[in-house]
Amino acid sequence: MSASPLTPMPPADTESADRPTPISAASEAIAASEAARAPLVLWVENLSVSFDGFKALTDVSLLLDRGELRCLIGPNGAGKTTLMDCITGKTRPDSGTIFLDNRDNDLTRLSECEIAQLGIGRKFQRPTVFQGHSVYENCELALKGGKGVFRTLFARLSAAERDKIDEILGLIGLRDHAQRQAGLLAHGQKQWLEIGMLLAQDPKVLLVDEPVAGMTHAEMERTGELLRSLAGKHTILVVEHDMEFVRSIAKRVTVLHEGKVLADGPMSRIQQDPRVVEVYLGE
Ligand code: ADP
Ligand code: MG
Repeated sequence: MSASPLTPMPPADTESADRPTPISAASEAIAASEAARAPLVLWVENLSVSFDGFKALTDVSLLLDRGELRCLIGPNGAGKTTLMDCITGKTRPDSGTIFLDNRDNDLTRLSECEIAQLGIGRKFQRPTVFQGHSVYENCELALKGGKGVFRTLFARLSAAERDKIDEILGLIGLRDHAQRQAGLLAHGQKQWLEIGMLLAQDPKVLLVDEPVAGMTHAEMERTGELLRSLAGKHTILVVEHDMEFVRSIAKRVTVLHEGKVLADGPMSRIQQDPRVVEVYLGE
């Protein structure tokens, strides 16, 4: 039989067994996952982006398994936001591909709107809830998505929709605040509401940029619990600076540095990787 896509590549050098998976193995990992029917949900391959000649991302590959909770860390300017911008279609890469679910959905060829409709939800750093509406109405608006405030709030919800909002409010811990005006919520509660609003749209992949910035310690813990409880059902990519928080939620971490993937692996290994300590954790 000829070599199958699952045939392991020979180690490139003697130390490679101890090192995180080299990025050149991305294609093998994709082939392995496809063959094993444990589908990757999102795969970024060899993505490069430059702004006026400045290379913000160089050959970045990132594979997310369905239901995974991945943390993306790295110093300021490493390219974390640029990577999220490419996934959501806000920025067009110079080269590389981003697939969602299968090879027919190359996100680098789609508009932001088409990408959102395919199931990529993004939570920005600053909450963008409808301040003047209640928590419940915010969820309702998100659930009905894009039909306009007036039409949405005067249309009846089906029993299934009410159940769904109730479930989301339970998940984000805001059931007791359902009738409260969103503008009056604490900072952490607004962040949870926005995560809830994303959930109402049933995203396949949730991109979450710095969720705990400005949160109290208790809010941070609650956010960690929330993200952990969503993993499994949802695939989540979290960009976060707070290393205590990252340690509390992450199983697997990808480290970006100067637009390249510096390391990728379990948090326990990443923390001890001398290159990561030098550029990021050592300070
Ligand atoms: P991070 O989110 O990891 O802090 P960014 O992705 O925001 O990093 O930025 C990566 C690099 O690309 C930075 O040096 C930043 O200045 C640059 N950059 C990001 N967006 C633009 C842009 N629209 N135009 C020019 N340079 C940009
Ligand atoms: Mg950023």
